[in-house]
Amino acid sequence: MAREPKRDPVGLEAIEGQPRAVALLRRALAARRVAHAYAFVGPAGSGRATTARAFARTLLCETDAGCGRCRPCALVAAGAHPDLHILVPTPPPTNPRGARAIRIDAVRELERQAALRPALGRRRVLIVDEADRMTGESPEAFLKFLEEPPPDTVIVLVLPHARAVPATVLSRCQVVRFAPRDGGRPAGALDEATALLETARADGVAALLRRTDRLDRAGAEAVLDGLRLHCRDLLLARAGAPPALLTDPGRGAQVAAEAARCSIARLVEAAEACRRAREALVHNVTPRLTVETTVLRLLATTS
Ligand SMILES: [Zn+2]
Repeated sequence: MAREPKRDPVGLEAIEGQPRAVALLRRALAARRVAHAYAFVGPAGSGRATTARAFARTLLCETDAGCGRCRPCALVAAGAHPDLHILVPTPPPTNPRGARAIRIDAVRELERQAALRPALGRRRVLIVDEADRMTGESPEAFLKFLEEPPPDTVIVLVLPHARAVPATVLSRCQVVRFAPRDGGRPAGALDEATALLETARADGVAALLRRTDRLDRAGAEAVLDGLRLHCRDLLLARAGAPPALLTDPGRGAQVAAEAARCSIARLVEAAEACRRAREALVHNVTPRLTVETTVLRLLATTS
């Protein structure tokens, strides 16, 4: 599958559907009053992580505009800028299938990196995705880090809601709110995900690729969330749950028919693949490809 290179991440100008959040960040950049720490708060699929990367690109750009042409911009797009650190929850080192968390070791490593001078430019940007998954001593260590912010460092926490971290942490961040996409209906993501599955099933891979052509990172996040919901519904149906328990009870018969074609073990595997794909998206420079392979995998499971 040929891909035009580096369409992603985009600059702030290409963030859709979040005019207030983008305007707030633009004002801070224009006034040269960028805060030490931000909390990007909103539901999954609302574009928080995409905006965090676009903001990082602007902060690290040689022209301060996120031009997309200078070396720092290219490095951010390739996921290789030495002054951009993205922390994501990871499973326990001893159990790759265990619960994912932002662990104390990772927070300490981040602190260590932040104590060094930026490698390329004037600043360093640290993004903590799913910052609500800080466990054990992590929130406390992170709070200390925020209390003595390292110079030339901008920290962005990505959160589902404001109460997802201790108030002491949030109070040190400028909160940027992200409105839900699709009016916040999880069914919106589910509809898009099942539409992609249907396209691939009925019209083949080429049709799927045409349909994913315009998918940006936030769209890819939403589709993968939708695919995960679909797997969960299939599992429920396969276990004999009534349609009322499904995300969209109106699709009960269709979901039950699809679920009947596969084993619970294979559905669990598919759900796990969706989760891993969603996780990988954070570091991934080809969100489209991730969506396409996940759709095709799920299709193979239920055919
Ligand atoms: Zn640039």
